Amino acid sequence: MYKIATIPGDGIGKEVMSSTIKVLQELSNKTKLSFQFLEYMAGDEHKVKTGIALPKETVLGVQNSDACLFAAVGDTAKEVIIPLRQRLNLYANLRPAKAYPGIKALKPDIDIMIVRENTEGIYKMIGSREKTWGINVRIITYEASERIVRYAFNYARENSRKKVTAVHKANVLDFTDNVFLEATRDVARDYPDIVYEEQIIDACAMKLVLMPENFDVIVTTNMFGDILSDETAGLIGGLGLTPSGNIGDNKAIFEPVHGSAPDIAGKGIANPIACILSSVMMLDWLGEKDDAKRLENAVLDVLKEGRIRTPDLGGTHKTRDMTDAIILNL
Ligand code: ATP
Repeated sequence: MYKIATIPGDGIGKEVMSSTIKVLQELSNKTKLSFQFLEYMAGDEHKVKTGIALPKETVLGVQNSDACLFAAVGDTAKEVIIPLRQRLNLYANLRPAKAYPGIKALKPDIDIMIVRENTEGIYKMIGSREKTWGINVRIITYEASERIVRYAFNYARENSRKKVTAVHKANVLDFTDNVFLEATRDVARDYPDIVYEEQIIDACAMKLVLMPENFDVIVTTNMFGDILSDETAGLIGGLGLTPSGNIGDNKAIFEPVHGSAPDIAGKGIANPIACILSSVMMLDWLGEKDDAKRLENAVLDVLKEGRIRTPDLGGTHKTRDMTDAIILNL
């Protein structure tokens, strides 16, 4: 029995989480898997009610679970998911970008894994705000860089990927990104079987649009990874389809890349696939490879059939319809 901490959060977070739990429950009815879902509070609504965006019980709940599924929070993201990642030392943020069958992707050949450093960089939240100016400090350490780059190369090796591209801005941010590049070059020497290349962030952003097929695994610092993964989400058909994992040595939180989408919250039209595919990543991380594949295939079959589409995919179906269709395909 897996103890799964769930954090539905705000806006469409609640809707996509309840869809995902329903799908996982159906999956457990059909397999040997069994789950205990324990719901924890966090986010804007909780802060309005209690003054606290991330209660201690939630952090403890995640710490005591086998894995955590997190849906989305609104304006309090910086008080919730960023501290959770840092406190639990979930240093690797995995953000896959894969074009799916039946989806009108800008780039149908895309299959990239973005490995983003998740604990430092400019998201370290060190700085200050004065009346007419502000400062955010960017911290890059050799230790965290080496750890994330090794993760990326190991990922490449274990998943038969051929190339790792390190993305940086060392020509301008030389104090910090030269540390990152020293680490990437040192680690790359240990993986002669994998092609290693370097790209400057701005050029990389353009090449991702022009020639995404030239990318395989991308490893980069915190903010660059955040931006590039939204760009690749756009290339494959939108935020409704992109899952992610925040992974440490023995804890992990899985979450859709999208936020709380206040513009569509409460309408029952959010696409639950990003959250459901995040649970696929969770099952995979828990070692339940076959059941992860089974659930992923159920999602892919619905996309391939193309009958059920939420508005973000050009249709008029509801979250509930998509959930039911995936369950039917399990
Ligand atoms: P937040 O402030 O919580 O980040 P946001 O609206 O600024 O919210 P996202 O939630 O990431 O950012 O949404 C960006 C856009 O993508 C919105 O127009 C939203 O409706 C759309 N979107 C995001 N997720 C989904 C989804 N699962 N299904 C359908 N549309 C989505």
